[in-house]
Amino acid sequence: MNKEKIPYKIYLNEDEMPKAWYNLRADMKQKPAPLLNPGTLQPMKAEELSGVFCEELIRQELDDNTAFFEIPEEIHNFYKMYRPSPLVRAYCLEEKLQTPARIYYKFEGNNTSGSHKLNSAIAQAYYAKKQGLKGVTTETGAGQWGTALSMACSYFGLDCKVYMVKCSYEQKPFRREVMRTYGASVTPSPSMETEVGKKILAEHPGTTGSLGCAISEAVEKAVSSEGYRYVLGSVLNQVLLHQSIIGLETKAALDKYGVKPDVIIGCAGGGSNLGGLIAPFMGEKLRGEADYRIVAVEPASCPSFTRGVYAYDFCDTGMVCPLSKMYTLGSGFIPSASHAGGLRYHGMSSTLSELYHQGLMEAVSVKQTEVFEAAEYFARIEGILPAPESSHAIRAAIDEAVRCKETGEEKTIIFGLTGTGYFDMVAYGKFHDGEMNDYIPTDEELAASCAGLPKVE
Ligand SMILES: *Cc1c(COP(=O)(O)O)cnc(C)c1O
Repeated sequence: MNKEKIPYKIYLNEDEMPKAWYNLRADMKQKPAPLLNPGTLQPMKAEELSGVFCEELIRQELDDNTAFFEIPEEIHNFYKMYRPSPLVRAYCLEEKLQTPARIYYKFEGNNTSGSHKLNSAIAQAYYAKKQGLKGVTTETGAGQWGTALSMACSYFGLDCKVYMVKCSYEQKPFRREVMRTYGASVTPSPSMETEVGKKILAEHPGTTGSLGCAISEAVEKAVSSEGYRYVLGSVLNQVLLHQSIIGLETKAALDKYGVKPDVIIGCAGGGSNLGGLIAPFMGEKLRGEADYRIVAVEPASCPSFTRGVYAYDFCDTGMVCPLSKMYTLGSGFIPSASHAGGLRYHGMSSTLSELYHQGLMEAVSVKQTEVFEAAEYFARIEGILPAPESSHAIRAAIDEAVRCKETGEEKTIIFGLTGTGYFDMVAYGKFHDGEMNDYIPTDEELAASCAGLPKVE
C-alpha cells in the first residue's frame, strides 16, 4: 500500500496532554436550553441544585461562557495512569475494505473500567472529596459507569453507592464484582431501600428496572443521606466538559501529523463520548474556522435523535430530576432489551440536542445485528474486542468507508472506540447463536411515550 507514513498508533507524550478541559458551550451563539425546576418551570439556580450535586460541578454545569477549565493537578496525575489514550490508524481495516478512506479511532478502552467513563468519574470524585463529602450515589445500567466511579472513589477514599438496574445486576455479575472489588456497595434497582423504589415495585411487581428508575433511587438516597451527593455519568454538561479530553487529545495527535478529518463519528447514548470527541472540532466549526461532518450513531431500538422530539422532559422515570430540553422519546419510554445497555437512555445531552437542532451535526440509527456484525468484523481485523456501544460507531465508520470505495473519495474518518466488550460476551453469544432480535419501536409506541411529556410553555 502506498500510504503516507503515519504511525499505527499515535501516542502523545505526557507533557502534550491537555492542561484544561474545553467547554463547547462557550462558542455556541444559541446556548443549550437551561435546566428547569419541575415545580416552578424556572431555570434551576445553583442553590436549588446544591442538595443533589457537588458545588464545583454545579458551577461547571451552569457555566455557558468559560471556554477552558483548568484540570486540577490531582486529576491530571490520575489521567497520567491511563492517558494519553492512543489514536490508532486502522490500516488493517482499510486494507480489508479496500477503501481509499483513511480511518482512525480514538481508543478509550485502555483502563480497568474498560470505557471513557473514567475520564469524568475521576473528576466528579475529586470535586466531591474536595467539598469534604463522605460519599456519592449513582445508578448504572450496563455497569461501565458504576465501575468507573467505584475506581475513582476508591482512589480518593470516598464511599460509593451504586444502584444497578436489576436485569444487569443479575446478568452481569462480573461487573458487579469489579465494583465491589473497588469498595462500592451495589444494590439492584428498583429496591426496597428508597421510597421511590418501593413505589415502583408496588406498581410494577417483578420489574427488572430501568436506568430512569435507578436514577430516581440514587437521587433520593443522596438527598436523604448526610454528606452524600448524586453523580451522573453522561447527559450533563459537566460530563461533556470532562470528556473533552478525548477530543483535545485527538486533535493534538492529528495536528502533530497535519491530518484534518472530514467525518467524525461517535455512538450516542447520553452524548458524553461524542460530545467530548467532537468538542474542539465543533468549536472550530462554530467559530467558522473549519468544517467537519459530525455523525451521531444510535440504536434503532432507542432512537432519541432520529425519531424523538426536541422538548423539555424529565431525566428520570420517578420525575424527581430537573427538566432538560433535549431530543427525547419520553421519560416513560422503556426501550426493548438491547445489549448496548449504555445507549438505552430515553434522552440526550442538551448541548448535543441544540447542535443537532441547529443542523450542525447529523444522526443515524443502526440495528443491533448489524452492529454485532461490525463488532465481530472489527475484532477479527483490528484485534480489539469492542463494546456493543462502541460498535455502533464502528458500523457507521465501515459504512462510510465502503461509500468512499464506491465514490473513490479519499476521506479521513475518525471514530470514537469508547470501550472493550469483555463483559458483554452473553450478548456476543446471542449474536453467534442467531438469537439476537432487532426490535424497532413503532410510531404508535413512540407517540404514546411522548404523549406523557411535561407541558412547558
Ligand atoms: C456509557 C457508554 C457509552 C454511551 O454513553 P455516552 O454518554 O453517549 O458516551 C458508549 N460506550 C461505552 C463503552 C459506554 O460505557
